[in-house]
Amino acid sequence: MGTFKALLANKTEAGPSLAWQELTEADLMEGDVTVAVSHTTINYKDGLALTGKAPVIRRWPMIPGIDLAGSVVASTHADFKAGDGVVLNGWGVGETHYGGYAGRARLKGDWLIIRPLELSAAEAMAIGTAGYTAMLALLALERNGVSPGKGPVVVTGAAGGVGSIAIILLARLGYHVIASTGRTSEADYLMGLGAAEVIDRAQLAGPARPLGKERWAGGIDAAGSHTLANLLSMTQYGGTIAACGLAQGMDLASSVAPFILRGVTLAGIDSVMAPKALRQEAWRRLARDLDKAKLAASTTNRPLAEVTALAPDILAGKIRGRVILEVG
Ligand code: NDP
Repeated sequence: MGTFKALLANKTEAGPSLAWQELTEADLMEGDVTVAVSHTTINYKDGLALTGKAPVIRRWPMIPGIDLAGSVVASTHADFKAGDGVVLNGWGVGETHYGGYAGRARLKGDWLIIRPLELSAAEAMAIGTAGYTAMLALLALERNGVSPGKGPVVVTGAAGGVGSIAIILLARLGYHVIASTGRTSEADYLMGLGAAEVIDRAQLAGPARPLGKERWAGGIDAAGSHTLANLLSMTQYGGTIAACGLAQGMDLASSVAPFILRGVTLAGIDSVMAPKALRQEAWRRLARDLDKAKLAASTTNRPLAEVTALAPDILAGKIRGRVILEVG
């Protein structure tokens, strides 16, 4: 039986110990589809898992990696056959089920989606959970009636993964995008992705007033905490903010004023357990609406072996856009 490399995380008092090991398919967990992993990526949550900064891994030992793309090598699931290109995001993979930082993965077919023909496996991982979450947030804005004609849309954590892809998507659809970043040195990068304005995230970082000046019709927030409270207080009448992240913090010191005086909607976004039909819609829309040249401009390629070195960097907000990890 052939072997493949996998990153194994073991529990220690000081946080996870990480080691590359040679495994065989017999070492994998249960599932009805086995995938040869060609590409994976690193998300903020992977950074938390690899460093142990948050208890993302809940079963030990674990192969981290919440995303993967590759091709099916064996399947007993009716929807998949050998050779199919597939994508996996979330479902507890990399947390309680062996994940993407390995040459092979065995998964439940119900978790997988067929990779859209328009996207290569590398592009699917340039998107990853971050980009798929950006699309879930965009779908939530649309469901709540936000459209380019209603007014500007704000994106926080703009130079990060969710933020970069949110900007590319919104700009392509004709929105006036206000990008909020702590890295104003990245203004040219953000304008290149399609932002119409770049603001310093310090403007949104302090405690929010119940109601502020109405500045946007909608927003996609990767930060949480005061940033989300400020977004809500500055949302115009009837607008919607999609909350997906906690880069500033888990807390939310807001008031009900935006909700009861301006009819603002706070839409929660969860990518991990999102139902399959919504995932399929999100990936269909990503295949249709994402500007691939801009996706490439927001992406860097690295070998999977570098993932452990990248983990502290993503938590420190030092990684721009998205990273494709090639599984050699
Ligand atoms: P990245 O690390 O790529 O981006 C996060 C960005 O947040 C940073 O690049 C930085 O952007 C900004 N940021 C960092 N620190 C702060 C701070 N103190 N205050 C405000 N902004 C800050 O991560 P991702 O894009 O992958 O993920 C973004 C967030 O979304 C994370 O919290 C992640 O856990 C969450 N997430 C949630 C999902 C869900 O299912 N709900 C799915 C995917 C992600 P800049 O330098 O431009 O300010």
